[in-house]
Amino acid sequence: MSSNAELLGAAPLFQGLAFDDLERLGGAARLQHFDAGEAIVEIGEPGRSLFVVVSGHVQVLYPARILEVELARLGPGDFFGEMALLNDKPRSATVRSVGPVEALVLDKSEFKQLVFDRPQVALNLLEVLSVRIYQADQQIGGLSDQAIRDTLTGLLNRRAFNERMVIECDRARRYQETFSLILLDLDHFKSINDTLGHDVGDEVLSWIGRILTLHTRAADMPFRIGGEEFAIVCPATHPDLARAVSQRLVDVVREASPPIRHKLNLTMSASYATCPDDGTDMEVLYNTADQALLQAKRDGRNRANDPIVIP
Ligand code: GH3
Ligand code: MG
Ligand code: MG
Repeated sequence: MSSNAELLGAAPLFQGLAFDDLERLGGAARLQHFDAGEAIVEIGEPGRSLFVVVSGHVQVLYPARILEVELARLGPGDFFGEMALLNDKPRSATVRSVGPVEALVLDKSEFKQLVFDRPQVALNLLEVLSVRIYQADQQIGGLSDQAIRDTLTGLLNRRAFNERMVIECDRARRYQETFSLILLDLDHFKSINDTLGHDVGDEVLSWIGRILTLHTRAADMPFRIGGEEFAIVCPATHPDLARAVSQRLVDVVREASPPIRHKLNLTMSASYATCPDDGTDMEVLYNTADQALLQAKRDGRNRANDPIVIP
C-alpha cells in the first residue's frame, strides 16, 4: 500500500474503505507541511480542500468574541475543512497549526465523489460531526452563561457589553445602521450601602436589573457594566427615541419603590449616545455618553442628559 493510502486508512473518517478506494484516494491526496502558527484554513475564504492531520496539532478557532474561541484541537487522524466542502459556503472557522503540522490534502471534488460513492464515509462523517456539534454547543452554552452573565442581576456583564459594542459598531458601519447606547448610574448608591447595608444594596441592584429588562424592548440589551452602573444597547434607535427611553427609565426608578423593607427614595442618572450621529467608534460613543452622564451628576442627578460632543 502506498504511504498516503496507509495514512488515510488510519483515519477514522475512512474506516471501512476497501484497499482499492484507499489507493485511489491516496493517489489523489498530497502531503503538505505547515509551519507553527500558520492559518491553514481562514474563516470566510472559499473551501477547496479537506485536510487529514498526519502529524502535529491544529486549533479550530471561531471569532465568537473579541478574542477567538478555540472550538477544538485536532491531532493525527482527525480531519478539518469538511463543512465548506459540503455546503459550498465560505469557511466557517479558522484552523491554525499549533506546532509544525503534516496534513494530507484532498481536493473538494475528490472528496464529494467519495461521499457520493461510499455511504460508509458519509456515515463516518456524520458520526464525527454529531460529536463536534454537541461539543461546540456545550462550549458556547458554557461561555454564554458563566463568562458573560452577572450573577446578582442576571444581566449581561461588562465583557459581553464590550463584545456587543464591537459587533454593533461593525454592523452600523457596514450597513449604515443606527443604534444607541444608554448609560445609567444610580445616584448616591454608596449611602444606601452605608445606611441600609450591603445586602439591601444588592437587592436594589437586582431589582434595577428587572426594571431595565421590563421597561425596554425585546431587542434592547441591558448590561451591568460596573457596581451600580448599567448600559443598554438599543438597535435601530435614533437620538429622539434614546432620549425618551433614558428619560423614561429615570422616571420609572424615581416613581417605583424597590421591594425592600425600608423606605427609600432611589434615583438614577442617565445619558445616551447614538451611532453614527455621535461617532462610529465604540470608544468615542462610550466617552460621549459617559461625559453626558457626569454632566447629569453635576446638574443635580435624577435626570437624563443629551450627549456632549467631545472636541
Ligand atoms: P453618584 O451619585 O455620584 O453616582 O454616587 P454613588 O455613591 O452612586 O457613586 P460611587 O461611585 O461613589 O459609589 C458606588 C457605590 O456602589 C460604591 C459601592 O460600594 C457600591 N457598589 C458597587 N458594587 C456593588 C454591589 O455589587 N453591591 C452593593 N451592595 N454595592 C455595590
Ligand atoms: Mg452612582
Ligand atoms: Mg458609578
